[in-house]
Order: sequence, then structure tokens, then C-alpha cells
Amino acid sequence: MVRRRKNAGESPEETDTEKESRNRMRSEEGFSHYEQIRDQRIKENKERLQKLGLFDLSLKLKKPKTSPQKKSPRPKKTTQNALTPSMPPRRSSRIQSLGPIKYYEGREKRDSSKNLEICIPKGTNPEVYTKKHEKLLGDCKMEWELYIDGYDDDGNRLYDPIKGQTCHQCRQKTLGLHTYCGKCELPQGEICGDCLYMRYGENVLEANENRQWICPACRGICNCSRCRRANGWMPTGNLYSKVSELGFKSVAHYLIQTYRSKDRLQAPAIEETDSQ
Ligand SMILES: [Zn+2]
Ligand SMILES: [Zn+2]
Ligand SMILES: [Zn+2]
Repeated sequence: MVRRRKNAGESPEETDTEKESRNRMRSEEGFSHYEQIRDQRIKENKERLQKLGLFDLSLKLKKPKTSPQKKSPRPKKTTQNALTPSMPPRRSSRIQSLGPIKYYEGREKRDSSKNLEICIPKGTNPEVYTKKHEKLLGDCKMEWELYIDGYDDDGNRLYDPIKGQTCHQCRQKTLGLHTYCGKCELPQGEICGDCLYMRYGENVLEANENRQWICPACRGICNCSRCRRANGWMPTGNLYSKVSELGFKSVAHYLIQTYRSKDRLQAPAIEETDSQ
């Protein structure tokens, strides 16, 4: 009975040796199965560790991300620093020569060519000035740093159709300081800082401090294209670089001081720019 039961699941021909080896195989199978499970667990643990490791790494990676975010104010500060000296410090200490601005340099280099000949097309009326005109020429105590006020850091003019003010001289609606005429109180008295300095040798900061300041149009010395045409004169075009190189304080100084003497009247060639 016992044997039958024993042999119930076994082949009747199975010997003891075979039985042993089969049992060994079973145990080996069992062992190998255990090993497989063990290996699997190790593998899983490794994976888990790796995941943990990755998690740690991700934490580490997140930290630098957060620290640059904390550090990000540094570049912001540098841009702020770049902005800050470009605006008020430059204004306050404009006598000091500050970092070169590409736009400014480019203009200077281009305009300060060897050819300093000034050619203004002849208008319908003779351009004559008197001592009275010369007395009306302005001046400034402080130099005005060109191409900064009303420009961005890249030297581009800040045009603004809403907040901007239209300059009587260059006709551009830009941000930045503009003059205000205490006499006419009209838009013709609004001149941007660069135009005021280049065309009249005056500083907009000083002009705005003086409530009695009178615009060039009211003084009768405006050299903008419109006013010149109204006088029967042709627009001068961009002359500042040339006249400043020739030693004149501004375009107005050049025109009045030069044209005052009839002997020095030039026979102008054709060169017309309507911008100024
Ligand atoms: Zn202007
Ligand atoms: Zn005015
Ligand atoms: Zn004018």
C-alpha cells in the first residue's frame, strides 16, 4: 500500500538512484528557484537603490537649479549695474569719460572722416546773421553725454508713440529728456537732449533747471529743417561731427559764427538731409 502510494506519482521503473537524483534535482531546482528569487530581490534592491541614487542625484541636480536661481539675481544685478551707471551716474558725472558705446563710437568714426568740407545747399534767401543772433547762442556748464539718454544699452533710440515726446529738431518721438520753452510753451520748444547739445551747444538738464529758458525757435536761431526752409534756407543735414571737429560748439555756433562774416560764405554743393 505504502509503496503504491509512494509510486503513485512515480514511474514504476524508477530506481532508488534515479529517485535520489530526481530528489536532488528537485532540491536543486528549489535552490535555483530560491536563488532566482534572491537574485531578483537583489536586482530589485539594486534598482531601488539606483532609483534612490537617482532621486538623490535629482535632488543634487535640483539644488544647483535652485542655487542658480538664487544666484540669478547676480546677473540681474550686473544688468542693473549696467543700467544704473548708464542712466543717472552717467548724467551726474558726464564729464568723466565712460565706457565706450558702439553706436556713439561708430558715429564718431564714420563722421570724423578726413573730409571736413561742409556743403549746405543754397536756399532761396541768403543766410545772414547779426551780432544779435550770436548773442542768442546758448552755452552749457556741463557737457552732455550723447547717445545715452533716450537710448537702450545697445545704443538704440527708445521710440515710444505714447510716452515719447516729439523733438522739434529731429522730429522723433522718443523717451528721454526734452526741453520746455517758458515763452511759447509749445511743442516747438521741446527738443531732445542730444539735439539740444549737438545743434545748439546747450545741456537739457541746465535748460530744464531754468524756467526762463527760451527755445531756439523763439530766439530766432532754430536750425531745424522746417525753420530753415521757412527762412528760405536749405536743411543742413548732420553736421555736428564735422563742426565739432572744426572747433565749433554746435551747429548753431558754426552757422551763426561762420555766416556772420559774408566773406566766409561758402558756395555750397548739394547735400540735403531732411532729418535735421
Ligand atoms: Zn531731437
Ligand atoms: Zn519757444
Ligand atoms: Zn525749428
